[in-house]
Amino acid sequence: MSSFEERVVHGLRVRIDRALCVGFGDCVKAAPEGFKLDEDSVAVFVQPEAVERDRLLHACDACPVDAITVWDEAGKQLVPTAPSDSG
Ligand code: SF4
Repeated sequence: MSSFEERVVHGLRVRIDRALCVGFGDCVKAAPEGFKLDEDSVAVFVQPEAVERDRLLHACDACPVDAITVWDEAGKQLVPTAPSDSG
């Protein structure tokens, strides 16, 4: 069974690495429509298309262990951002 969950949302490719997720739930707090914790306390998608693009990016970037990766239409990685980009 793959440990990756992947969706294309607002033209963004969003991937949860379920093996990395430690279930802190920061992504869920930032975008509860988009993510939830399953019975193993690992993040899964709910309805990420219901979350505005900016907030979705913010929610993915909130992950403390970089378990969520986001690429744009051109295949450029947007999340995780370089450490110097965030405060
Ligand atoms: S923020 Fe990261 S570690 Fe926390 S639940 Fe979401 S994917 Fe998992």
